[in-house]
Amino acid sequence: MTIIDGKQTSLDIRDEIKKEIDDLREGTGRVPGLAVVQVGENPASRVYVNSKVRTCEAVGMHSEKYLLAKDVSQDELVELIEKLNRDEKINGILVQLPLPKHIDEELITETISSEKDVDGFKAENLGRILMGEEDCFKSCTPYGIIELLKRYNVELSGADAVVIGRSNIVGKPLAALLINESATVTVCHSRTKELAEKVKQADIVIAAVGIKGFVTADMVKEGAVVIDVGINRGEDGKLYGDVEFDGVSKKAKAITPVPGGVGPMTIAMLMKNTLKSFKKYQNLDKKN
Ligand code: NDP
Repeated sequence: MTIIDGKQTSLDIRDEIKKEIDDLREGTGRVPGLAVVQVGENPASRVYVNSKVRTCEAVGMHSEKYLLAKDVSQDELVELIEKLNRDEKINGILVQLPLPKHIDEELITETISSEKDVDGFKAENLGRILMGEEDCFKSCTPYGIIELLKRYNVELSGADAVVIGRSNIVGKPLAALLINESATVTVCHSRTKELAEKVKQADIVIAAVGIKGFVTADMVKEGAVVIDVGINRGEDGKLYGDVEFDGVSKKAKAITPVPGGVGPMTIAMLMKNTLKSFKKYQNLDKKN
């Protein structure tokens, strides 16, 4: 059984990105820039935002952090995003979700220019993923999962994959990316009948449910590859995935742990998307 090490893989990707940024700095005198916007003081958001900013620093990327008060008006937030859309130093804009209730998340996401939507949350980028276009920003978590599977040489073409979860940021784009890789994909959700039976058929199981220990050993086929997207805080304060790791790992051929699996890959792919945006802006993408 292989533990799919997302932490190490994300560090490898960070090294690759850093080298490329070092070369770009030498060649063009410029580096990619990411703006991270946080509204209010949600502790989880703070952890995510700080770790994104730290990762920017680690790879030599320019970053700007905007911490806005929780009662900031929607108009003010739109104004900031429009300013960042015009800012030549900024190649990627990330607004940390969730936003306070008085702000329309969809409107904010759609305000970000498509060229700077490095989270890949805009309808346009989701549409491009669905169309199988390479020239788009793939949503970071699904992109990271595909990258992990590829780097661990998991055969995707012809594989039976079951994705549990159909959110716009994980389940749906992931299903599209897997189809683009020629997997046969079943997407399960809260209305799915005989979910366990469906999961049991899968060569690749990907759980993005948000329920601790949702996938148990009896639901998984011997030799399956299991990817755990879930991040659930247990009563003991520790982080748990959607997969009951101890039992499932005895049957799986390969499995991601939580923490240290999909989570770190998400940030690595955010860096990759921001670098891609920079190269496109500098017209360097054709040369690579
Ligand atoms: P959402 O809550 O948006 O979606 C959860 C999905 O799970 C929904 O499609 C829902 O179905 C389905 N679901 C819920 N309960 C059941 C059930 N009992 N049986 C079958 N399906 C069910 O979550 P996200 O997609 O945003 O995130 C999923 C998990 O991944 C969370 O734990 C989140 O914290 C984590 N996450 C981790 C990231 C990372 O970087 N590692 C990034 C993003 C998320 P329905 O649509 O019918 O309601």
